[in-house]
Amino acid sequence: MRKIFKSLMFISALALLASPAMAKKIRWRMALSWPSNLTPLASPPIKLAKLMKEMSDGKFIIKVEGAEKTKAALGVLDMVKSGSYQMGHSGSYYWIGKDPNTVWFTTVPWGMTTAEQYAWFYYGNGMKYMKKVYDKFGVYSFPGGNTGVQMGGWFRKEIKSVDDLKGLKMRIPGFAGKVMAKLGVSVTNIPGGELYTSLDRGTIDALEWVGPGMDIKMGFYKVAPYYYTGWHEPASEMQFLVNKKAFNKLPKKYQTMLTTAMKAVAADMFIENFADSVTAWQKMKKEYPGIKVKTFPVPVLKAMKKATDEIMDEYASKNALFKEIYNDYKAYQKKARVWTMMSEYYYLKASQEVEGVK
Ligand code: CA
Repeated sequence: MRKIFKSLMFISALALLASPAMAKKIRWRMALSWPSNLTPLASPPIKLAKLMKEMSDGKFIIKVEGAEKTKAALGVLDMVKSGSYQMGHSGSYYWIGKDPNTVWFTTVPWGMTTAEQYAWFYYGNGMKYMKKVYDKFGVYSFPGGNTGVQMGGWFRKEIKSVDDLKGLKMRIPGFAGKVMAKLGVSVTNIPGGELYTSLDRGTIDALEWVGPGMDIKMGFYKVAPYYYTGWHEPASEMQFLVNKKAFNKLPKKYQTMLTTAMKAVAADMFIENFADSVTAWQKMKKEYPGIKVKTFPVPVLKAMKKATDEIMDEYASKNALFKEIYNDYKAYQKKARVWTMMSEYYYLKASQEVEGVK
């Protein structure tokens, strides 16, 4: 009996030695660029933490800390880089000041749709380039949820020509802001919490946010009746950042769990945001039947496209990697768009013709 007990002890000691990392609890922290209650943006990190806890039988714990706690919405990359947080949830294009190549992993004006971009990420060169760009920060970046096509924004007055853009005060960040500035718009950056008042008081004439699902919470439709369709953020992808050293130290099983769970919750954000927009738009339209959905006139759109190309060419002339990714992205978009048009576009067009859907 004693002998059996001894050999049992030996076997369990061996089992512990075989996977020391699996035996102890892993505790990580994840910093967000948004408040932890701002769904659907905050949904992927919260769902990820829950999935990891459940799949690891409570051994892999990720504590999610929103911007309300960290007070550093735009410090997420630095915090993950330094290892003070093992993970972050943010938007790659926020790091344009550190490296312009980070913009490719969120969205660019006149770029790919969500389906096209995911195809580029996972079956084209997207992930390869993302790894290359983030390597120098000592972090891995993974897709973290997509908003789909974002609306072009809320305007107090109708835009009938390029001249109407001149002197217009608008909140529009990133590359799109540079495009608008080129067309004479006075681009401002106002914190989210002050946007409604600024638009209501006329401090700004227009702004863009996301789409009905998120816009409805901000109330813009009550003060600016023109709701323009999108051109500047056709498929904004959020990102998960993971400290490289922390990730590499994980047992293979946890690495697989984490990468699989990140992909699942990212896909789910797109679905959640789509559903939110379906519901929100019905409500908005009912409450404020005066909202006018508009598409910018073709000459305005053409001017936006021209300005976008000029800005892209300017970046490409200064940065060899930018040029390489730009060419790869453009080539992929061109061939992917042929299929999007043949499949979704003509299906929607046919549906509209037979059902009169608007
Ligand atoms: Ca936006």
